[in-house]
Amino acid sequence: MIPDSGTVVTYPGGAVTSRSTVRHVADAGAGRTAVVLDATAFHPIDTAWPDQPADRGVLSVGGAEIEVVDAVVGAARDGELLLGPDVPVRTGTEGWVFVVAHLIAGEPLAEGDTVEVRVDAAFRDELSAGHTGCHLASLALDAALADAWRKDAPVDALGAPGFDALAIQESRIVSLGSRDVYRIGKSLRRKGFDPTALEDLEGLAGRVNEMLAEWVTAGGAVRIECGGATLSDRRTWECDLPGAVARIPCGGTHVRSLSDLTAIEVSFQSSAVEGGAELVMTTTVTPA
Ligand SMILES: [Zn+2]
Repeated sequence: MIPDSGTVVTYPGGAVTSRSTVRHVADAGAGRTAVVLDATAFHPIDTAWPDQPADRGVLSVGGAEIEVVDAVVGAARDGELLLGPDVPVRTGTEGWVFVVAHLIAGEPLAEGDTVEVRVDAAFRDELSAGHTGCHLASLALDAALADAWRKDAPVDALGAPGFDALAIQESRIVSLGSRDVYRIGKSLRRKGFDPTALEDLEGLAGRVNEMLAEWVTAGGAVRIECGGATLSDRRTWECDLPGAVARIPCGGTHVRSLSDLTAIEVSFQSSAVEGGAELVMTTTVTPA
């Protein structure tokens, strides 16, 4: 039986292991089984906004280790479980139950089995560092481009015009970094953004990196505020910065403190695309 309120997730608090009960198994195609647990430390990739990749790790049962080959969000309604790309709604949508589906090869597990979830902690740490770096880089970018706006724009978590939110096309967290793709086109110009602000990308990177260095040096705490314990509950990343607390809705994992990091640095690349340009921000995080 799929748990009524969905899977309890413990990774937002930093857990990398959990003792869990198998609540449902389903054929996931291609010789794989989707395993739904009552609770898990395993971070799945989100379908609607797939920024942070799934954790790596195993389900340990009776001394045997079963590799988790992927972990996706599953959504159930009227007893039917849809997986990953087949989920038609955003995680948290009313009327659906959301679960973490651990995909394994074959069908070695059954409902009622007890398993220990063991996440690859080193890989998780690198993704957490990359995700914290990604949020801070986006805020520093917004601040560095604040003068490029000719009209009032919706503001970000620190009150700067939200270039990141308005222009982002894709955000991917990687080990110790991230890659964000922005679209600079007619729609952004109509909202008041002056693209000449992107003519000197080295100068822009210099200003962003200066701000990031100041934030990292201050070593503020990072928290995840949870509206509840299940996958569908709203969670918010909170980071103490000099003179402000930044808050961004986020379903991923993060470092506990900026003192866990030595540096966050960005570089930019721009290329012409139809109707404008594509800007790529590559963020690199150095752990302490
Ligand atoms: Zn996030």
